[in-house]
Amino acid sequence: DQLISQIAAGEVVERPSAVVKELLENALDAGATQITVRLEEGGVKRIAITDNGRGIEPEQLPLAMARHATSKIASLHDLEHVGTLGFRGEALASIASVAAVRITSRTPGAAHAYEIVGSHEGTVAPSSGAFGTTIDVQDLYFNTPARRKFLKSEQTEYGHCAEVVRRIALSRPDVAFSLTHNGRTIDHWNVGEAAKRSAQILGSDFADARLQLDESAGPLRLHGYAGLPTASKARADGQFFYVNGRFVRDKLLVHAVRAAYQDVLHGDRFPSYVLSLDLDPALVDVNVHPSKIEVRFRDSRAVHQFVFHAVQRALAQTSA
Ligand code: ADP
Ligand code: MG
Repeated sequence: DQLISQIAAGEVVERPSAVVKELLENALDAGATQITVRLEEGGVKRIAITDNGRGIEPEQLPLAMARHATSKIASLHDLEHVGTLGFRGEALASIASVAAVRITSRTPGAAHAYEIVGSHEGTVAPSSGAFGTTIDVQDLYFNTPARRKFLKSEQTEYGHCAEVVRRIALSRPDVAFSLTHNGRTIDHWNVGEAAKRSAQILGSDFADARLQLDESAGPLRLHGYAGLPTASKARADGQFFYVNGRFVRDKLLVHAVRAAYQDVLHGDRFPSYVLSLDLDPALVDVNVHPSKIEVRFRDSRAVHQFVFHAVQRALAQTSA
């Protein structure tokens, strides 16, 4: 059972940044408006995420750490296929099988916080803490040295974690985020407008030269900011695309945007952008595999054309 948990964990939490992503999504699911991410040694030593969300009732704490679907998993083969169905209710249990986890939480009605340490078999004890939840993950892969060996340098793992925070923070300007690494505050973003958040995260070059767009056609809406090439160096990591609020890295969408830039601006510069495509969830299959986010559109041609034309029209205003 423990072994199966650890193998599953390798899929769900292949590196510290995957833990950060799962914990941030949980905090947002809990309605948090303020989230603090504290990392030590690239997240390998420690990932502690504190939110001011609705919290977890003390009697629910063991359940939060329990795995929900293990009975379906009979072999490694099955395990691989569970991945394509999503890991609902698997994240915390998986993390707890490969790291030391402490959850401290206080709900609005409670006189004080409660905590649970270790796993779903841990005991729930009174604790102190503000309203909301802190999930503290220490010594990732301490019990699976083979897995730990695959981790890269502290700086590389930290970079991946910071990237996950940036992606999520860009899509949620209505939530305040702060990020510290080894005790140093790296980023802090207050609640504000999308325009301001994207300027903070992508820098002043982006803020000074970007077009706002918001186009709809039938069930499709594309909105956000398309950066313009500027004199200074374009950044390779400034391309953000979201589908129904989730960050995706999708060939079809990247191609549609790139083609629009080439069509209007002709250069091979590929500036920063933050674009969100919203559509009826029935028209898209977002396969939320923990390590990669793939999308499959019911009508990919229509989506490609729509995105291409929306970006093209926005850019064409400048060259007119
Ligand atoms: P899932 O998110 O798929 O339900 P997880 O293992 O990520 O599974 O989390 C298990 C459960 O623990 C969640 O469904 C939620 O009820 C609770 N939970 C986890 N993190 C938080 C949090 N930060 N605030 C409130 N509840 C949480
Ligand atoms: Mg979750």
